[in-house]
Amino acid sequence: MSAIKEPSFRESVDLMFNRAVALMDLPPGLEEKIRVCNATYTVRFGVRLRGEIKTFTGYRSVHSEHMEPVKGGIRFATSVNQDEVEALAALMTYKCALVEAPFGGSKGGLCIDPREYEEHELERVTRRFAYELAKRDLIHPSQNVPAPDMGTGEREMAWIADQYARMNTTDINARACVTGKPLNAGGISGRVEATGRGVQYALREFFRDPRDVEKAGLTGSLDGKRVVVQGLGNVGYHAAKFLSSEDGAVIVGIIERDGALVNPAGLDVDAVQQWLFANGGVKGFPDGTYIENGALVLEEECDILVPAALEGVINLGNAERVKAPLIIEAANGPITAGADEILRNRGTVIIPDMYANAGGVTVSYFEWVKNLSHIRFGRMQRRQEESRHQLVVDELEKISQAMGNQYSLTENFKQRYLRGADELELVRSGLDDTMRIAYQSMRDVWHERADVGDLRTAAYLVSIDKVAASYRAKGL
Ligand code: GLU
Repeated sequence: MSAIKEPSFRESVDLMFNRAVALMDLPPGLEEKIRVCNATYTVRFGVRLRGEIKTFTGYRSVHSEHMEPVKGGIRFATSVNQDEVEALAALMTYKCALVEAPFGGSKGGLCIDPREYEEHELERVTRRFAYELAKRDLIHPSQNVPAPDMGTGEREMAWIADQYARMNTTDINARACVTGKPLNAGGISGRVEATGRGVQYALREFFRDPRDVEKAGLTGSLDGKRVVVQGLGNVGYHAAKFLSSEDGAVIVGIIERDGALVNPAGLDVDAVQQWLFANGGVKGFPDGTYIENGALVLEEECDILVPAALEGVINLGNAERVKAPLIIEAANGPITAGADEILRNRGTVIIPDMYANAGGVTVSYFEWVKNLSHIRFGRMQRRQEESRHQLVVDELEKISQAMGNQYSLTENFKQRYLRGADELELVRSGLDDTMRIAYQSMRDVWHERADVGDLRTAAYLVSIDKVAASYRAKGL
């Protein structure tokens, strides 16, 4: 590690924010209002497990309430702390604004290693945490809507939804209190794959403009591009799977907790995942070379690096040696502010987290709308449903107009909705539209403004502008 002190995750986000606002013309008071985190709630609660009381610490941070509900995942990990949760909540604000999901930013976390507990124990802990948050309206369909994040998934979201429903038996909208639920508990098709799918759509859009491809010193399309993925969790797995099976990319490296696998001819993503589940690590996988110090593979020669695990993995200690000309931040905050500067100066193109992993919250938005509309998304069987779908579209259009058309439905989404595309098709096309439009808004700033040299600054400019507009419109 370098002797220079690395800023904390939250400081890193603030530094990146500051770089962008320096190029904007915001009144200083408003700039400060947008930057700071509104509130962070810390809770410590006890659960009796295995005959003794165990105390857990959890957080829910609300970064900005310029739109409500506020939105963001709940993370289960031993590394969870207030600084991290606040950084992640801030990123949610910018992410939602950038992809025009009409939410403020929030994030939660519980200090726990889920692998240490049995399922029924985890259920008790999750329900108790949900209770603590819900009784303070930090879980609520119109105020604060959590979702999965690292260490949580559909199962935990179902427990949270059920806990909320038990506490609010007369709330017809109770299901909309959390997204990322299983399909049979009010979820939506395509939510599990959504973040990885969004990474794929983001890269496809990047490769559609030869000028961008050239900026990264690359040529051609995704076909044949050598990709290294860090983290084969939900996001990394789906991104790697779709990029290799649908776009011809070659997964030459996979980095996991216990080490990494490399294979210049390409790794079979499903086979590696099965091995990982069966053996608890990637070591011993027959069709690749195992490297114990997995972090070294971040420095491997490749075309695209996809950090899809933890924050801060590309830092002052290794940034100089990272060779990928294009990095897409599937994780939140994988590149520290210092590393970002080193990479920028070298001309590495970075597709920033707030855009790259926005697929999750985008599809969460569809799920939330589905829950609130109480209408099944998807293929219609009866004419009556057809007219109800038209009513929903009309209603959403009206809402959008009242909000100055900031959140209008895209034509593609509307057409598919009306003609009764099935739910998965609808979700994927809505996500594709969203990822394309958001990328184009960043790209325009990147290309048109001489003082904006990178996509991250462009992303911040676009999103801060939207948050500022909303504060101006409605007051503080
Ligand atoms: N945890 C995901 C994120 O960081 C999803 C949040 C959501 O769907 O609300 O974006």
